[in-house]
Amino acid sequence: MEKKLSTNRIDGLVLSAISGLYIVQTGDQVLDCSLRGNLKKNFTYSTSDSRAKRVTRAKHPHTNDTVAVGDRVRLTLGSNNSGVIEEILPRKSSFARSGFRGQEQTVVCNLDQIFIVFACSEPRPDPWKVDRFLAAAEAEDINTIIIANKADLLPLEDIPAIFEEWSRVGYRVIITSTHTETGMDELQEALVGKISAFVGPSGVGKSSLLNTLHPNLKLRTKSIGYVTFKGKHTTTASQLIPLECGGWVADTPGLRNLDLVETDRTFVSYCFPEMAPLIGKCRFEDCRHEAEPDCAIKNAVESGEISSRRYESLLAMSVPAGAQPSHR
Ligand code: GDP
Ligand code: ZN
Repeated sequence: MEKKLSTNRIDGLVLSAISGLYIVQTGDQVLDCSLRGNLKKNFTYSTSDSRAKRVTRAKHPHTNDTVAVGDRVRLTLGSNNSGVIEEILPRKSSFARSGFRGQEQTVVCNLDQIFIVFACSEPRPDPWKVDRFLAAAEAEDINTIIIANKADLLPLEDIPAIFEEWSRVGYRVIITSTHTETGMDELQEALVGKISAFVGPSGVGKSSLLNTLHPNLKLRTKSIGYVTFKGKHTTTASQLIPLECGGWVADTPGLRNLDLVETDRTFVSYCFPEMAPLIGKCRFEDCRHEAEPDCAIKNAVESGEISSRRYESLLAMSVPAGAQPSHR
Protein backbone atom coordinates (compact mmCIF):
# COMPACT_ATOMS: atom_id res chain seq x y z
CA MET A 1 0.00 0.00 0.00
CA GLU A 2 2.61 2.59 1.03
CA LYS A 3 4.68 2.93 -2.09
CA LYS A 4 7.00 5.79 -2.88
CA LEU A 5 5.89 7.96 -5.73
CA SER A 6 8.08 9.91 -8.11
CA THR A 7 6.49 13.19 -6.98
CA ASN A 8 7.90 12.68 -3.50
CA ARG A 9 4.49 11.79 -2.21
CA ILE A 10 3.90 8.66 -0.23
CA ASP A 11 0.73 6.80 0.59
CA GLY A 12 -0.40 6.19 4.13
CA LEU A 13 -3.33 5.19 6.29
CA VAL A 14 -4.98 7.55 8.80
CA LEU A 15 -4.88 5.93 12.26
CA SER A 16 -6.42 8.79 14.17
CA ALA A 17 -7.82 12.22 13.52
CA ILE A 18 -8.17 14.61 16.41
CA SER A 19 -8.61 18.38 16.11
CA GLY A 20 -6.78 18.78 12.86
CA LEU A 21 -3.91 16.47 13.79
CA TYR A 22 -3.71 13.25 11.84
CA ILE A 23 -1.63 10.25 12.80
CA VAL A 24 -0.74 8.49 9.57
CA GLN A 25 1.02 5.17 9.17
CA THR A 26 3.28 4.70 6.21
CA GLY A 27 5.18 1.43 6.21
CA ASP A 28 6.63 1.03 9.71
CA GLN A 29 6.58 4.74 10.36
CA VAL A 30 3.93 6.71 12.18
CA LEU A 31 3.78 10.39 11.24
CA ASP A 32 2.08 13.45 12.70
CA CYS A 33 0.35 15.11 9.80
CA SER A 34 -1.58 18.23 9.05
CA LEU A 35 -3.92 18.83 6.18
CA ARG A 36 -3.00 20.92 3.15
CA GLY A 37 -5.08 24.11 3.44
CA ASN A 38 -7.04 23.73 0.23
CA LEU A 39 -8.27 20.28 1.29
CA LYS A 40 -10.01 21.66 4.34
CA LYS A 41 -12.70 23.44 2.37
CA ASN A 42 -13.18 21.36 -0.70
CA PHE A 43 -13.97 17.78 -0.11
CA THR A 44 -12.86 16.79 -3.55
CA TYR A 45 -10.72 13.73 -3.68
CA SER A 46 -9.49 14.18 -7.18
CA THR A 47 -10.33 15.80 -10.48
CA SER A 48 -10.78 12.53 -12.32
CA ASP A 49 -14.32 11.55 -13.21
CA SER A 50 -14.11 7.97 -12.12
CA ARG A 51 -13.01 8.95 -8.63
CA ALA A 52 -15.71 11.57 -8.26
CA LYS A 53 -18.25 8.95 -9.21
CA ARG A 54 -16.88 6.56 -6.66
CA VAL A 55 -17.11 9.20 -4.01
CA THR A 56 -20.71 9.93 -4.95
CA ARG A 57 -21.48 6.28 -4.63
CA ALA A 58 -19.98 6.15 -1.14
CA LYS A 59 -22.61 5.27 1.42
CA HIS A 60 -22.65 8.42 3.52
CA PRO A 61 -21.58 11.24 1.27
CA HIS A 62 -22.93 14.05 3.42
CA THR A 63 -20.68 13.84 6.42
CA ASN A 64 -18.95 16.96 7.62
CA ASP A 65 -15.47 15.56 7.98
CA THR A 66 -12.75 15.86 5.43
CA VAL A 67 -10.37 13.16 6.56
CA ALA A 68 -11.46 10.30 8.77
CA VAL A 69 -9.85 7.33 10.47
CA GLY A 70 -9.27 4.63 7.85
CA ASP A 71 -8.75 7.04 4.97
CA ARG A 72 -5.91 6.25 2.60
CA VAL A 73 -4.05 9.45 1.92
CA ARG A 74 -1.15 10.75 -0.12
CA LEU A 75 1.28 12.98 1.70
CA THR A 76 4.54 14.87 1.50
CA LEU A 77 7.14 14.29 4.18
CA GLY A 78 8.34 17.02 6.49
CA SER A 79 11.02 16.91 9.16
CA ASN A 80 10.80 15.09 12.51
CA ASN A 81 8.29 12.45 11.51
CA SER A 82 5.82 14.97 10.22
CA GLY A 83 3.93 15.21 6.97
CA VAL A 84 1.27 17.10 5.08
CA ILE A 85 -1.77 15.32 3.64
CA GLU A 86 -2.09 16.40 0.02
CA GLU A 87 -4.75 14.09 -1.27
CA ILE A 88 -7.40 11.73 0.05
CA LEU A 89 -7.84 8.54 -1.95
CA PRO A 90 -11.37 7.34 -2.75
CA ARG A 91 -13.20 5.66 0.12
CA LYS A 92 -14.50 2.14 -0.35
CA SER A 93 -16.96 2.46 2.48
CA SER A 94 -17.73 4.69 5.38
CA PHE A 95 -19.31 3.95 8.71
CA ALA A 96 -21.02 7.05 10.09
CA ARG A 97 -23.11 7.83 13.12
CA SER A 98 -24.66 11.05 14.30
CA GLY A 99 -22.30 12.84 16.57
CA PHE A 100 -22.00 16.38 17.76
CA ARG A 101 -25.22 18.37 17.15
CA GLY A 102 -26.75 15.40 15.39
CA GLN A 103 -24.54 15.84 12.35
CA GLU A 104 -23.35 12.66 10.68
CA GLN A 105 -19.77 11.96 11.53
CA THR A 106 -17.60 9.35 9.96
CA VAL A 107 -16.52 6.94 12.67
CA VAL A 108 -14.26 4.90 10.45
CA CYS A 109 -13.96 4.38 6.74
CA ASN A 110 -12.66 1.58 4.56
CA LEU A 111 -13.60 -1.03 7.15
CA ASP A 112 -13.11 -4.43 5.50
CA GLN A 113 -14.82 -6.68 8.01
CA ILE A 114 -16.64 -6.87 11.30
CA PHE A 115 -16.05 -9.73 13.73
CA ILE A 116 -19.06 -10.41 15.89
CA VAL A 117 -17.67 -12.00 19.04
CA PHE A 118 -19.72 -14.32 21.24
CA ALA A 119 -18.68 -16.86 23.86
CA CYS A 120 -19.55 -20.54 23.48
CA SER A 121 -20.31 -20.42 27.19
CA GLU A 122 -20.08 -17.94 30.09
CA PRO A 123 -22.09 -16.21 28.79
CA ARG A 124 -23.73 -18.55 26.31
CA PRO A 125 -24.82 -16.62 23.21
CA ASP A 126 -28.27 -15.10 23.22
CA PRO A 127 -29.46 -15.91 19.68
CA TRP A 128 -31.62 -12.77 19.48
CA LYS A 129 -28.61 -10.68 20.29
CA VAL A 130 -26.47 -12.52 17.72
CA ASP A 131 -29.10 -11.75 15.07
CA ARG A 132 -29.20 -8.11 16.06
CA PHE A 133 -25.46 -7.68 15.76
CA LEU A 134 -25.41 -9.54 12.46
CA ALA A 135 -28.23 -7.48 11.00
CA ALA A 136 -26.58 -4.24 12.11
CA ALA A 137 -23.34 -5.30 10.42
CA GLU A 138 -25.20 -6.33 7.26
CA ALA A 139 -26.90 -2.93 7.25
CA GLU A 140 -23.45 -1.40 6.87
CA ASP A 141 -22.79 -3.76 3.97
CA ILE A 142 -19.55 -4.94 5.51
CA ASN A 143 -18.29 -8.53 5.45
CA THR A 144 -19.20 -10.18 8.75
CA ILE A 145 -17.55 -13.11 10.53
CA ILE A 146 -18.69 -14.71 13.79
CA ILE A 147 -16.13 -15.55 16.46
CA ALA A 148 -17.13 -18.32 18.87
CA ASN A 149 -14.71 -17.63 21.74
CA LYS A 150 -14.08 -19.53 25.01
CA ALA A 151 -14.04 -22.83 23.11
CA ASP A 152 -12.09 -24.32 26.04
CA LEU A 153 -15.26 -24.31 28.18
CA LEU A 154 -17.05 -26.97 26.12
CA PRO A 155 -16.15 -30.18 24.29
CA LEU A 156 -15.02 -28.98 20.84
CA GLU A 157 -17.49 -31.25 19.07
CA ASP A 158 -20.44 -29.55 20.80
CA ILE A 159 -19.60 -26.08 19.52
CA PRO A 160 -20.63 -26.12 15.82
CA ALA A 161 -24.22 -26.96 16.85
CA ILE A 162 -24.47 -23.77 18.91
CA PHE A 163 -23.66 -21.66 15.84
CA GLU A 164 -25.34 -23.88 13.27
CA GLU A 165 -28.26 -21.57 12.58
CA TRP A 166 -25.82 -18.88 11.41
CA SER A 167 -23.29 -21.05 9.59
CA ARG A 168 -26.27 -22.57 7.78
CA VAL A 169 -27.18 -19.21 6.26
CA GLY A 170 -23.62 -18.62 5.14
CA TYR A 171 -21.78 -16.92 7.99
CA ARG A 172 -18.23 -17.98 8.60
CA VAL A 173 -17.67 -19.01 12.22
CA ILE A 174 -14.16 -19.01 13.68
CA ILE A 175 -13.91 -21.03 16.89
CA THR A 176 -11.34 -19.55 19.28
CA SER A 177 -10.02 -19.74 22.80
CA THR A 178 -7.61 -17.25 24.28
CA HIS A 179 -6.76 -19.82 26.95
CA THR A 180 -5.75 -22.70 24.68
CA GLU A 181 -5.06 -20.50 21.61
CA THR A 182 -7.47 -22.59 19.55
CA GLY A 183 -8.27 -20.80 16.29
CA MET A 184 -5.82 -17.97 16.81
CA ASP A 185 -3.92 -18.80 13.60
CA GLU A 186 -7.13 -18.80 11.63
CA LEU A 187 -8.17 -15.48 13.15
CA GLN A 188 -4.78 -13.95 12.48
CA GLU A 189 -4.92 -15.04 8.86
CA ALA A 190 -8.30 -13.39 8.48
CA LEU A 191 -6.90 -10.12 9.87
CA VAL A 192 -3.82 -9.73 7.66
CA GLY A 193 -3.88 -6.60 5.50
CA LYS A 194 -7.43 -5.69 6.46
CA ILE A 195 -9.16 -3.11 8.62
CA SER A 196 -11.35 -5.01 11.07
CA ALA A 197 -13.64 -4.22 13.94
CA PHE A 198 -14.50 -6.46 16.89
CA VAL A 199 -17.97 -6.04 18.33
CA GLY A 200 -20.12 -8.07 20.69
CA PRO A 201 -21.50 -7.99 24.22
CA SER A 202 -19.13 -7.36 27.11
CA GLY A 203 -17.47 -10.28 28.82
CA VAL A 204 -17.16 -12.45 25.71
CA GLY A 205 -13.40 -11.93 25.41
CA LYS A 206 -12.88 -9.17 22.82
CA SER A 207 -10.03 -7.54 24.74
CA SER A 208 -8.50 -10.91 25.54
CA LEU A 209 -8.54 -11.86 21.86
CA LEU A 210 -6.73 -8.68 20.89
CA ASN A 211 -4.19 -9.03 23.66
CA THR A 212 -3.50 -12.60 22.59
CA LEU A 213 -3.08 -11.57 18.98
CA HIS A 214 -1.00 -8.61 19.82
CA PRO A 215 0.78 -8.88 23.17
CA ASN A 216 2.27 -5.40 22.78
CA LEU A 217 -1.04 -3.76 22.24
CA LYS A 218 0.02 -0.89 24.45
CA LEU A 219 1.32 0.60 21.27
CA ARG A 220 3.00 3.91 21.78
CA THR A 221 2.69 6.72 19.34
CA LYS A 222 3.96 10.19 19.88
CA SER A 223 0.67 12.01 19.87
CA ILE A 224 -2.00 9.65 21.03
CA GLY A 225 -0.24 8.23 24.02
CA TYR A 226 -0.84 4.69 25.11
CA VAL A 227 -3.47 2.79 23.27
CA THR A 228 -5.43 -0.01 24.80
CA PHE A 229 -8.43 -1.71 23.33
CA LYS A 230 -10.55 -0.75 26.31
CA GLY A 231 -9.50 2.82 25.79
CA LYS A 232 -8.42 3.26 29.41
CA HIS A 233 -5.75 5.79 28.63
CA THR A 234 -7.13 7.29 25.51
CA THR A 235 -9.70 9.76 24.40
CA THR A 236 -13.05 8.56 23.19
CA ALA A 237 -12.14 9.33 19.59
CA SER A 238 -11.90 6.52 17.14
CA GLN A 239 -8.59 5.10 16.02
CA LEU A 240 -7.01 2.22 14.17
CA ILE A 241 -4.60 -0.01 16.04
CA PRO A 242 -1.91 -1.54 13.82
CA LEU A 243 -1.45 -5.25 14.56
CA GLU A 244 1.86 -7.07 14.31
CA CYS A 245 0.38 -9.36 11.65
CA GLY A 246 -0.09 -6.39 9.32
CA GLY A 247 -3.76 -5.62 9.79
CA TRP A 248 -5.60 -2.95 11.72
CA VAL A 249 -8.26 -3.07 14.37
CA ALA A 250 -10.73 -0.23 14.58
CA ASP A 251 -11.26 0.86 18.16
CA THR A 252 -14.20 3.15 17.83
CA PRO A 253 -16.81 4.13 20.41
CA GLY A 254 -19.48 4.30 17.70
CA LEU A 255 -18.91 0.70 16.74
CA ARG A 256 -18.83 -0.84 20.19
CA ASN A 257 -22.57 -0.60 20.53
CA LEU A 258 -23.30 -1.58 16.98
CA ASP A 259 -27.05 -1.60 16.49
CA LEU A 260 -29.57 -1.11 13.74
CA VAL A 261 -30.36 2.49 13.00
CA GLU A 262 -32.99 1.78 10.40
CA THR A 263 -35.82 -0.53 11.47
CA ASP A 264 -38.07 -0.52 8.41
CA ARG A 265 -39.03 -4.16 7.80
CA THR A 266 -38.09 -4.26 4.13
CA PHE A 267 -34.70 -2.76 4.87
CA VAL A 268 -34.06 -5.14 7.78
CA SER A 269 -35.12 -8.20 5.80
CA TYR A 270 -32.31 -7.38 3.37
CA CYS A 271 -30.00 -7.79 6.36
CA PHE A 272 -30.99 -11.47 6.75
CA PRO A 273 -29.06 -13.21 3.94
CA GLU A 274 -31.54 -16.11 3.74
CA MET A 275 -34.50 -13.72 3.36
CA ALA A 276 -33.02 -11.13 1.01
CA PRO A 277 -33.55 -13.27 -2.15
CA LEU A 278 -37.26 -13.61 -1.30
CA ILE A 279 -37.98 -9.91 -1.07
CA GLY A 280 -40.43 -8.86 -3.75
CA LYS A 281 -41.76 -12.40 -4.18
CA CYS A 282 -44.75 -12.08 -1.86
CA ARG A 283 -48.23 -11.70 -3.36
CA PHE A 284 -48.58 -8.17 -2.00
CA GLU A 285 -45.95 -5.59 -2.70
CA ASP A 286 -46.38 -4.07 0.77
CA CYS A 287 -46.42 -7.47 2.54
CA ARG A 288 -45.56 -7.27 6.24
CA HIS A 289 -44.63 -10.96 6.23
CA GLU A 290 -47.06 -11.50 9.10
CA ALA A 291 -50.51 -12.91 8.21
CA GLU A 292 -50.73 -12.12 4.50
CA PRO A 293 -51.54 -14.95 2.09
CA ASP A 294 -48.78 -16.14 -0.25
CA CYS A 295 -45.99 -14.52 1.70
CA ALA A 296 -42.71 -15.86 0.30
CA ILE A 297 -40.94 -15.49 3.62
CA LYS A 298 -43.66 -17.19 5.68
CA ASN A 299 -43.84 -19.99 3.12
CA ALA A 300 -40.09 -20.55 3.46
CA VAL A 301 -40.48 -20.66 7.25
CA GLU A 302 -43.28 -23.22 6.94
CA SER A 303 -41.26 -25.43 4.60
CA GLY A 304 -38.30 -25.24 7.00
CA GLU A 305 -36.00 -23.40 4.60
CA ILE A 306 -35.86 -20.43 6.93
CA SER A 307 -35.52 -20.94 10.67
CA SER A 308 -38.65 -19.83 12.50
CA ARG A 309 -36.49 -18.34 15.23
CA ARG A 310 -34.61 -16.13 12.73
CA TYR A 311 -37.98 -15.15 11.27
CA GLU A 312 -39.25 -14.17 14.75
CA SER A 313 -36.06 -12.20 15.14
CA LEU A 314 -36.80 -10.24 11.97
CA LEU A 315 -40.29 -9.39 13.24
CA ALA A 316 -38.95 -8.37 16.65
CA MET A 317 -36.31 -5.97 15.36
CA SER A 318 -38.23 -4.34 12.54
CA VAL A 319 -41.46 -2.49 11.93
CA PRO A 320 -43.67 -2.69 8.85
CA ALA A 321 -43.79 0.45 6.71
CA GLY A 322 -45.93 3.12 8.34
CA ALA A 323 -45.92 1.53 11.82
CA GLN A 324 -44.30 2.99 14.93
CA PRO A 325 -41.22 1.28 16.43
CA SER A 326 -42.15 -0.90 19.41
CA HIS A 327 -38.86 -0.47 21.36
CA ARG A 328 -38.41 -4.20 21.73
P1 GDP B 1 -14.66 -8.21 26.67
O1 GDP B 1 -15.56 -7.51 27.62
O2 GDP B 1 -15.44 -8.78 25.53
O3 GDP B 1 -13.51 -7.40 26.22
O4 GDP B 1 -14.11 -9.50 27.46
P2 GDP B 1 -12.71 -9.72 28.23
O5 GDP B 1 -11.61 -9.89 27.27
O6 GDP B 1 -12.56 -8.65 29.26
O7 GDP B 1 -12.97 -11.13 28.91
C1 GDP B 1 -14.00 -11.35 29.85
C2 GDP B 1 -13.64 -12.55 30.72
O8 GDP B 1 -13.58 -13.73 29.93
C3 GDP B 1 -12.25 -12.42 31.38
O9 GDP B 1 -12.36 -12.91 32.68
C4 GDP B 1 -11.37 -13.31 30.51
O10 GDP B 1 -10.28 -13.85 31.23
C5 GDP B 1 -12.33 -14.38 30.09
N1 GDP B 1 -11.94 -14.99 28.80
C6 GDP B 1 -11.57 -14.37 27.66
N2 GDP B 1 -11.29 -15.26 26.70
C7 GDP B 1 -11.52 -16.49 27.22
C8 GDP B 1 -11.41 -17.82 26.71
O11 GDP B 1 -11.04 -18.07 25.55
N3 GDP B 1 -11.75 -18.83 27.55
C9 GDP B 1 -12.17 -18.62 28.83
N4 GDP B 1 -12.47 -19.67 29.58
N5 GDP B 1 -12.27 -17.37 29.35
C10 GDP B 1 -11.95 -16.32 28.56
ZN1 ZN C 1 -44.30 -11.46 2.77
